[in-house]
Amino acid sequence: STELNVRQRRLVSNVVRSGQALLGIINDILDLAKIEAGKLELSELPFEPREAIAELADLFSEHCANKGLEFVYFVAEDVPSRVIGDPVRLRQVLVNLVGNAVKFTELGEVVVKVTTLPAGPDEVVLGFAVEDTGIGIAPDQRSRIFESFHQVYGSMTRARGGSGLGLSISRQLVGLMGGSLAVESELGRGSCFSFTARFNAAPHVAEPPPTRQHLPRTLRALVLDGNAASAHVISVYLAN
Ligand code: ADP
Repeated sequence: STELNVRQRRLVSNVVRSGQALLGIINDILDLAKIEAGKLELSELPFEPREAIAELADLFSEHCANKGLEFVYFVAEDVPSRVIGDPVRLRQVLVNLVGNAVKFTELGEVVVKVTTLPAGPDEVVLGFAVEDTGIGIAPDQRSRIFESFHQVYGSMTRARGGSGLGLSISRQLVGLMGGSLAVESELGRGSCFSFTARFNAAPHVAEPPPTRQHLPRTLRALVLDGNAASAHVISVYLAN
């Protein structure tokens, strides 16, 4: 409750950061144990996928800006405004994938995309992709990164921290959501982690058709943006 001097402030913030890191590891280990014991059950709650993605932007855009990275997201127009599933576990998977993308990228951008895939009458299948322009993953490592505790050997990884549990947990959570998690990557160019997840359609919500004013004639638009991925997303919205 008193003013802290510079050294005290540094020590206290070390304690906070170490505490948070430890809590992260404990939570990961508990999750993994729970999944392996077959005791993890997903909740069935109505939630808004667009809201979930906007939250990710809130969470990561400052960190991205500090690193000089662009954070871009795109949600296709036909993604329903509401679905029923487990928003907390979906968020956990996305936070892990985006966290990794930011962690392993020094230049360029992180792009999150959400699209809909064909599904049965009462269900919604969403496709999520997290792309980065980071260090990439060598072919012989691509399947191993999903194993618990596996981290690609190298000083880069060690300096970036982490427990090597995130992808293993994410893959199993995605499995519980009725989908699968895959990776494509090119060393030195970037990675794309993508997964599908199955949700129940939210009942009784009549989706209002997008209100759209028809233009009297075709308009041309010029989009200027310093980032190609972001310009592309804006141009898709404009074309719609
Ligand atoms: P952690 O991030 O805690 O190390 P993860 O299970 O999330 O654990 O990831 C395992 C390993 O996979 C990472 O240590 C890293 O070597 C590799 N990896 C994951 N995501 C990426 C990415 N976007 N780009 C490059 N390497 C990655």
